[in-house]
Amino acid sequence: MKNFSPDQVSVRSAHFIGGEYIETQPDLFEVLRPSDGHAYAGLPVADADMVNRAVENALHAWKTSCWATQPPRDRARILRRWADLIDADVDTLAAMEAVGSTRPLRDARTWDVPFTAEGIRFFAECADKHGGDVAATGSDQLGMVISEPYGVIGAIAPWNFPLVMASWKVGPALAAGNAVVLKPSEMTPFTALRLAELAIAAGMPAGIFNVIQGNGQVTGDSLCRHPGISKVTFTGSTRTGAAIMRACAETGTKPVTLELGGKSPQIVFADAPDLANAARVIARAISGNAGQVCNAGSRLIVQRSIAERIVGDISTFFSTLKAGHTWACDTTLSPIISNTQADRIESIVGRSVQAGAQVVSGGQRASVAGNGAYYLPTILTGLCDGMDALTQEIFGPVLTVQVFDDESEALALADHPDYGLAAGLYTADLGRAMRLARGLEAGNVWINRYGRSADFVIPTGGYKRSGIGKDLGMQAFEASRRSKSVLIDLTK
Ligand code: NAD
Repeated sequence: MKNFSPDQVSVRSAHFIGGEYIETQPDLFEVLRPSDGHAYAGLPVADADMVNRAVENALHAWKTSCWATQPPRDRARILRRWADLIDADVDTLAAMEAVGSTRPLRDARTWDVPFTAEGIRFFAECADKHGGDVAATGSDQLGMVISEPYGVIGAIAPWNFPLVMASWKVGPALAAGNAVVLKPSEMTPFTALRLAELAIAAGMPAGIFNVIQGNGQVTGDSLCRHPGISKVTFTGSTRTGAAIMRACAETGTKPVTLELGGKSPQIVFADAPDLANAARVIARAISGNAGQVCNAGSRLIVQRSIAERIVGDISTFFSTLKAGHTWACDTTLSPIISNTQADRIESIVGRSVQAGAQVVSGGQRASVAGNGAYYLPTILTGLCDGMDALTQEIFGPVLTVQVFDDESEALALADHPDYGLAAGLYTADLGRAMRLARGLEAGNVWINRYGRSADFVIPTGGYKRSGIGKDLGMQAFEASRRSKSVLIDLTK
């Protein structure tokens, strides 16, 4: 892989509605390259009228095209073709993703783009794997429960994995026969347009998949409140999730799927099968994408007898990471999405240090050419209950360390009052692993590993304030359809 110049990547400042690009005067809103802070495009912000245009287009396409009514196998064929086109477009998509987000080019090529395509393939396979039920109603009537798409689903995505997160929102919705209006994050808006363009090339009817650009307060809120939207699927922060739930409740009690924030523990017992490997996995789970991952394993909870060794190994791993532009071949530590976010990381770490926490490694910004923001992978020890670093989702490469002596203490430390997205357990004792897996209030539990691979069949989603509903798996597909009960009187 060679370095390339980010200036080679051009983007269109546009919405994508009814199968075509709609270019309006870009607002003053500038989109920055996270790697060097360079403003590389303006962004149009869809106001209520533009949102209305997108939803009306989607509704019209949904009612008049064959998308919802054709045999699901035919829909699946188009989705598979779409996935093939995404794979074939890897050079362009990966370059756009690397320039416009925090994803290093190598990862975008080998993970983000193929994972996006494979996710769509998974949902294509779900398209005809649902059936209705015949209810036990007695012989003089026939009761059926049939499953139908909602209509138009509003999808709102975050900035941390722009392509993958978009595919998790729109994949199940489209496979289930809905039309979609997607609003990507205003910080990473452009690869979604390319996805929509490729969907048209794959044969998806115009208007079934639309992309509108803009911020949350204007565009996102208008989308959630539009009467033509029947359901909203959202990934982002817990605070925004609550605002979206409110907007949906106030405008027609629309159902929501919410994938929200986390503060996930990684619990390591002294009997973990391979401690050196566990340390590497733990280190990657908080430094990957510079910790800007919903499932980031941000709280290390380690048995006292191995604490020093594990922390030392993680610290050594961190020291090998190289912060750099996403388009440089040797970058292994991503930029932080914005200076504002880096300030926030700095301030949370600073407050905790002032309150008595100790920095074992990192604890400061890394210096890289340009105006991007970079933060060194950081380990904090000596934390006390209630410190910000322990309680808040930092969304940066900051690992807190707490020490335990026995299983019940580990479980108590792992519990977070608000979040319950994910947890990691490292132990060779299967009984203990299963006891803790059941005891943890988290929607995803990983044992002797951390994070997902291409296992789309396994749903993901949080407990507590980390979310409602699931992405991926048949559950995400089924949540994109609603059921209707039909009763026929057979005596007439
Ligand atoms: P965010 O909540 O700031 O923004 C997410 C999206 O919501 C953006 O497109 C934004 O424009 C939009 N938005 C903001 N306010 C809105 C409003 N009032 N109405 C409608 N839309 C609105 O989140 P972010 O900073 O983009 O992403 C980081 C967060 O996402 C973290 O908290 C992370 O944990 C979470 N996340 C969760 C998962 C998961 O699967 N649980 C995955 C990725 C990210």
